[in-house]
Amino acid sequence: MANRAPTFSIQRIIFLAVSLVLCVQVGWWINVQIRESGRLLQARSEALNASLAEAWQMDSLHILAFIGASPDPSSRTGSIQGHFAILPSLEQRRAAIQKRFPQVVVVPSAITSDDLALLDGAAFLSLRPEPLIELRNQRWHSVFRAASEGAFMVVAVLSGFVLLYRKLAEELDLKLRQRNFTSAITHELKTPIASLRVWTETLFTRALSDEQRLRIRDLMEKDLARLNELVGNLLDVARAESGSLVLHVAPLELATWLRSVCESMDLRLEPGILGLQLEFTSEPLWVNADPKALGTVMENLLSNAFKYAAEPRQTTVTLDGDGDDALIVVSDLGHGIAPKDLPRVFHRFFRVGDEMTRQVTGTGLGLFLVKEIVTRHGGDVRASSRGLGLGSDFTVRLPRIPRPEDA
Ligand code: ADP
Repeated sequence: MANRAPTFSIQRIIFLAVSLVLCVQVGWWINVQIRESGRLLQARSEALNASLAEAWQMDSLHILAFIGASPDPSSRTGSIQGHFAILPSLEQRRAAIQKRFPQVVVVPSAITSDDLALLDGAAFLSLRPEPLIELRNQRWHSVFRAASEGAFMVVAVLSGFVLLYRKLAEELDLKLRQRNFTSAITHELKTPIASLRVWTETLFTRALSDEQRLRIRDLMEKDLARLNELVGNLLDVARAESGSLVLHVAPLELATWLRSVCESMDLRLEPGILGLQLEFTSEPLWVNADPKALGTVMENLLSNAFKYAAEPRQTTVTLDGDGDDALIVVSDLGHGIAPKDLPRVFHRFFRVGDEMTRQVTGTGLGLFLVKEIVTRHGGDVRASSRGLGLGSDFTVRLPRIPRPEDA
């Protein structure tokens, strides 16, 4: 996948740029919200202060009206002090002020420098602390609300972006893998067909000894087996994808079945070439399985152990019980798999490395099929590797059933 990195890094840059723009936008929006609410609260605080002045004005006009209404014109001049006797009591004035301006209190002495002395100096007007405290609280509340709404918006939109990005990346990755698959499958089909053509021509155009004919027949059978396996895999993948992969499950004793599958695979590849070692528990392990489908699983795992290891190969197949499950582990000492590729080896069409430089042929469908079949058996398959060049382990876990005679 040579062209994978640039495509993904361009996507990543676009994603980061859009996220950055979004964060700046939301930051700006939060700023506007905070400023707007600040302005609103400022206006309300000014209105409160204006009510203080209005209350003072109302009281002063009240006093002046009393003076103006005095029957003795001489008493209209001079200081207000002189008319104390005819003025309404401070209690009456306080009641009138507080009825009209509930947020204003009349106090005998000044509390803050903003307090207004009444015209006759009898008391001061002050704002109640509660509306001011409420205003301050409202300011914090609106800052908090704008910040949390902004954070929610960022999280919601970024989550959407992440989902989109992932989906897009997956689609792109699948497209690239499909493209690689087309070139891989062409190669996989062409090679045995070309080889069969050469052997057919040799058989019909040359004088050969019996021994040579037998050798050519073996080679042709290998090519045919390769083609057969490939077409079988393709058909099974198509069935698995369309949900029409039918399993004929029946109780299966694993040890006997697994030994015969491993041995026939070893013979098919080339006797002894796998360096096969079987380590089976003596405990009889039974599972409900389709022997043919499970055979495809083992064939793919062993064929990979062959393909992705250099000679002399050392392949170990272990069979063991683990609680309610039976475990089949296929281990090799081959190329190994890098940790970053491990989660993807079961993906459809995935192949490690670059199609142009890859030495080993394949289609990237084998492990996908393995996973499909094992999952359909109610089991699970995992890949692990001790590191590049240190081999790989594929662990198939299948649910055990009691021995049929005991059930
Ligand atoms: P392929 O037809 O390419 O072998 P698979 O689906 O069987 O397709 O495997 C997917 C990829 O996983 C392979 O291309 C290979 O890179 C990696 N892989 C599978 N098995 C092994 C193994 N035993 N050792 C190292 N790499 C492996």
